[in-house]
Amino acid sequence: MSPIVGIDLGTTNSLIGAMDAGFPILLADAEGERLTPSVVHFPPTGEPLVGRAASRMRALEPAATVYSAKRFIGRRVGEAADEVGFALTGERGAPMRMRVRGHDYAPEEVSALILKKLRADAERALGCEVTRAVITVPAYFNDAQRQATKCAGELAGLTVERIVNEPTAAALAYGLDKLGDRSKVAVFDLGGGTFDISILEFNEGVFQVLATNGDTRLGGDDIDEALIADFKFQISNLSPEAHARLREALVMAKHRLSSEDEARIELPFFSGNESFARTLTRAELERIARPIVERTRAHCLRALQDAKLTPADLDDVILVGGQTRMPLVREFVRGMFQREPNVSQNPDEAVALGATIQAGILSGAVQNVVLLDVTPLSLGIETFGGLMNVIIPRNSTIPIKAGEMFTNAVAGQRAMLIKVLQGERELVRDNWALGEFKLAFEPAPKGHARVGVQFEIDANGILHVLARDTKTGAEKVVAMTSAVDVSDEAVEKMLEESLEHAFEDMSDRVFVEARLKSDELLPAVRQALAQVGAELDDTERALIAQRVAEVEAAIAAGAGQPLKRANTALDDATQRLATILIERAMGT
Ligand code: AMP
Repeated sequence: MSPIVGIDLGTTNSLIGAMDAGFPILLADAEGERLTPSVVHFPPTGEPLVGRAASRMRALEPAATVYSAKRFIGRRVGEAADEVGFALTGERGAPMRMRVRGHDYAPEEVSALILKKLRADAERALGCEVTRAVITVPAYFNDAQRQATKCAGELAGLTVERIVNEPTAAALAYGLDKLGDRSKVAVFDLGGGTFDISILEFNEGVFQVLATNGDTRLGGDDIDEALIADFKFQISNLSPEAHARLREALVMAKHRLSSEDEARIELPFFSGNESFARTLTRAELERIARPIVERTRAHCLRALQDAKLTPADLDDVILVGGQTRMPLVREFVRGMFQREPNVSQNPDEAVALGATIQAGILSGAVQNVVLLDVTPLSLGIETFGGLMNVIIPRNSTIPIKAGEMFTNAVAGQRAMLIKVLQGERELVRDNWALGEFKLAFEPAPKGHARVGVQFEIDANGILHVLARDTKTGAEKVVAMTSAVDVSDEAVEKMLEESLEHAFEDMSDRVFVEARLKSDELLPAVRQALAQVGAELDDTERALIAQRVAEVEAAIAAGAGQPLKRANTALDDATQRLATILIERAMGT
């Protein structure tokens, strides 16, 4: 049987590993390197170059060299614009593509080329065919991004046995030699393109994620962009090639400044015959980087809040991702979590080692370890009045199955439209639509149809929806495969807004629910008055008329709580009317 490999498909670099005699090891390529830059260069003829060879071409031919494909995977055109050296194409709203030498590539095709190279390196190192893999993704990847990553693996000829969240993988690598322990740890993962924070509990071999948060568009690349944009490096009329050279030199300076106080940037023959030389100090770099590093704070706070923990409850904070080598990031973590961060893990390798351990768990090579991960965002469907009905709340342990019964709002209705939503807000319009489908059912009186909707999130974090008419057994199973129209600024904004608007949202919800009640109540009262109103005295009728007017006024004002109160008052005022109606119906 083919071995299962573990792959860290990174924004900047990728790695591959396999279990060897019970230990996870990372595999080197033909040049003896374990780190493969996630870069693909398309020459005018012949096969694409992948890895270091492609990286060298980036400064020479930026337009034909694709990097950071992970930033675009599972995304649509029109979401936040990224500055990249190559062309992005596609119609607004369609999945994002990259145009190189007149040919369009999907991000997953580019990722597949990287995976193919890793696979070939592993086959050379292991001396056997490799067809099965575990691939990691940022914890905060949504459904579409996970699907697209799985698709990249399949394009590279790999069966993707499991998609694992990066910080969870890093925690596995950290915790493998502490299996007997009981502890709570945070994994702070700041890579090139993404930031994730996860809080886990270890208990005798069970690794349970308690909460996860993050931003799939926050990382070292943002510090690089901010450096280039700084006035210190403003040079007019730079060619794309010169821009790429400058970027590369600045990134190298950023790395040097993790261990030195000053870095000299020298680019001979930079524009024409002119050379370029500047000195960058660590203090200057920190001034530029600080606002970016600060953006991680809100996510850390939210993850702690979701896990119902304070920094003092944690036993360790593990740093992962190349950007955590920066002293400023370590200082931030120290302040935020009030402790010295744990740097025992090699920040470049922990995720790939964890992916390899997960591969070992699946193949049986690693025993007595159980991994329980969570889903980052709530999932639900639209119900009456434009409300989001949450079926699986965020931070639920996966795999998970949950369902609810729904009924028809209108008599004789023949189908129900099921709109699947992701997000943290009360109203449908504030969340994202993942997809929708119709389930036909037998016509029935209002409230009599029984439609069960079940959501299942598999161990990869991918959603499957099942809807069934429980009377006829007619059912539909739907995998949500379309790219989701979700930008990460939007994810972040949504989470912020869900807190900010919690009060407002609640009052919106109260209004919608009260309105639904009035819509039932008013026609029922009118009908009852027409049928048996003559049996009431004048004062009773006047009171009911007044209560009806109050309900109508509250509807017109759009006020939730007053409408709720007006409904109750109308209900009370019509008690005798209802009794007379019932007595009449019973013939007593
Ligand atoms: P990763 O996605 O984990 O490979 O992290 C890559 C990011 O880490 C890139 O933005 C790199 O520029 C950054 N990085 C790598 N090494 C260092 C270093 N020594 N100091 C600061 N940043 C680094």
